[in-house]
Amino acid sequence: MSGFTTTAIMLHRIHYGDNDLIISFFTPDKGKISIIAKAAKKSTKRFGPILELFSVLQVVCSNGRRQGMMYLQEAALKHSFVDIRTDVKKTAYASYWAELINTWVEEKKTQSQLYDLFLLALEALNCGKISDEMLSVFFQLKFLNINGLSPDLRQCRECGIPVEQTPHTRLIFDLVKGGLQCPECSSGGTGRLTLSKGVLKQLQWIGQHNLETAQRLWFSPPALQESLAFMETFVPFHTGRQLRSLKFLRQIR
Ligand SMILES: [Zn+2]
Repeated sequence: MSGFTTTAIMLHRIHYGDNDLIISFFTPDKGKISIIAKAAKKSTKRFGPILELFSVLQVVCSNGRRQGMMYLQEAALKHSFVDIRTDVKKTAYASYWAELINTWVEEKKTQSQLYDLFLLALEALNCGKISDEMLSVFFQLKFLNINGLSPDLRQCRECGIPVEQTPHTRLIFDLVKGGLQCPECSSGGTGRLTLSKGVLKQLQWIGQHNLETAQRLWFSPPALQESLAFMETFVPFHTGRQLRSLKFLRQIR
């Protein structure tokens, strides 16, 4: 039986039969993979209590006789992110990011940039130096960027006037058209959000910088709320995913 060893972050797990689990892992070299962990529920001796969401593990897997089936043979804990798991709001943010990746990424397609982003975001969420909300804005902007889905926040999509040159303090983002409109060009209708010039500039700036630089940017509480509301509307709309964890996040926040 052939096999492999890799580092893996646990994205999702479902019960399979009385004793087994099917686990979705996100790996740096194999992308998203689904693995059967035999007897994981019945016996804690085999894997111990380490098969938890968001844990970073070193896993040894084998390929089964049936095409495409993979089995977990061994797992060793590298990071447990205990401060995420013991905080309901942090758990809700991490669940949202994990569900986004789990529903968006194709199986066995390497996405090392996205893996690095997820790991970085989990580490920062666990250590707590940056606010959870700011971190989620950062994660979503970079997620969109890596997947070629970034919204153009620089100018009105109709007349081309740059954001900083409009006399208006707020612009309209049309979700269906996927772009900004100045009030003169806005045609009305549903699926529209308004965003302040300041928020548009801050989102653009974060999108161009790494986390270390981006975390120095100060967001006023209303600006942060506006940014989060925009990202959490834009991301599900443009990925076409209904995310259950986002509902939960909104409830507990
Ligand atoms: Zn315009």
